[in-house]
Amino acid sequence: MAKNIDTSSLHTDTQLTLAGRRPEWTGIENHPSAVVTPAVWRASTHLYPDMAALRAGHAYNEDGRFYYGRRGAPTQWALAEALTQIEPGAAGTVLYPSGLAAISGVLLAVLKPGDVLLMTDNAYEPSRTLGNGILKTIGVETRWFDPTDLAGFEAAICERTAAVLLESPGSLTMDVQDVPAIAAICRDRGITSIIDNTWASPLGFAPLPHGVDITLMALTKHAGGHSDVMMGSASAGPEWYDRLRRHAQQMGTVVSPDDAALVLRGLRTLSLRLERETASALTIAQWLSARPEVARVLCPMLPGAPGHELWRRDFTGGCGLFSFVLRGGSSAARDALIDTLSLFGIGYSWGGFESLATPLDPARVRTASAWPLAGMEAEDRFGVRLSIGLEDPRDLIADLEQALGVWAAQG
Ligand SMILES: *Cc1c(COP(=O)(O)O)cnc(C)c1O
Repeated sequence: MAKNIDTSSLHTDTQLTLAGRRPEWTGIENHPSAVVTPAVWRASTHLYPDMAALRAGHAYNEDGRFYYGRRGAPTQWALAEALTQIEPGAAGTVLYPSGLAAISGVLLAVLKPGDVLLMTDNAYEPSRTLGNGILKTIGVETRWFDPTDLAGFEAAICERTAAVLLESPGSLTMDVQDVPAIAAICRDRGITSIIDNTWASPLGFAPLPHGVDITLMALTKHAGGHSDVMMGSASAGPEWYDRLRRHAQQMGTVVSPDDAALVLRGLRTLSLRLERETASALTIAQWLSARPEVARVLCPMLPGAPGHELWRRDFTGGCGLFSFVLRGGSSAARDALIDTLSLFGIGYSWGGFESLATPLDPARVRTASAWPLAGMEAEDRFGVRLSIGLEDPRDLIADLEQALGVWAAQG
């Protein structure tokens, strides 16, 4: 982009190809041509022409102005700018060295001693650990609520409730929350609403126009997309963005330019990968739901599955992450099923180009909501979470078919 293009009115897919490619980050001053992708700017010291310019630096605090390495350089700015551009309603984006660092960074910026944090019961497990750990040590009390019980959520609010952490769908059991309703209640009561939007990304769900104050993502998952980089982000409107940014600066939060370049590269194909993953996941979820070994498919994109109505109402897209629960069986039999899979890697994380499988044991982590879910049999407890990658879904189905066969033979 040797030309400076106003991308604000363009569609997201077009923005994804242009975002962050400012002429001053891809070209050389007074030189007419430019490279496509911003270079990796490795920098601690930023140099000033004179003392007046060094002193003048104190007056500003924004991406795109050289100051010092901890405030980033063009590579990180390009990524932050691209993320802000695809996040409707965002004034800016703060980058964190991991998704969990984004969660802890945001919560520590929002909460103070004496506050109560309401956290959805289907939250990512390290978010729970944070509530039971560091937040507790600094005098913040975390309480959990049933993600699908709106009245229960409202009843759980007290005078000290300062913030709510949502995750919809929850990245294990995929329960979809009524985010607009929860956000509206929060707004009424002066409670800060925060959502972990890693599952959908802004391409599938735009939290800020739905009334949420702060949206965060593990860029490690879809944005990176290649299982080779860790990063997180938080985006918000002007007021919260400024607070998050200043808090992150006090904490010394900074990401490496090499990592930022990798995530920016991943972002270019995000839409395409999500589309393919979603289509494959739906095919596989449909196939699983017809299998006698499967008690329940937890995939909100699937008609008839839990959360599907809310998903259809609020979301514009999905992804390849969903779970299924086996009919009866044991934890050991489920583990053997996962061991039998050959195309699915066994490992944490998701959102990469390659498929993964992990065990699903919600009973171990839920405290405020039922498991098995309402309508499920008590013995249907053990599940598998799949992250569907870019393989041909016919090969993935064949792999699942042979593994289910081995599972069934164990009786
Ligand atoms: C993986 C994940 C995170 C944490 O991201 P890391 O980069 O691994 O720290 C946060 N939220 C959700 C929903 C996740 O799946």
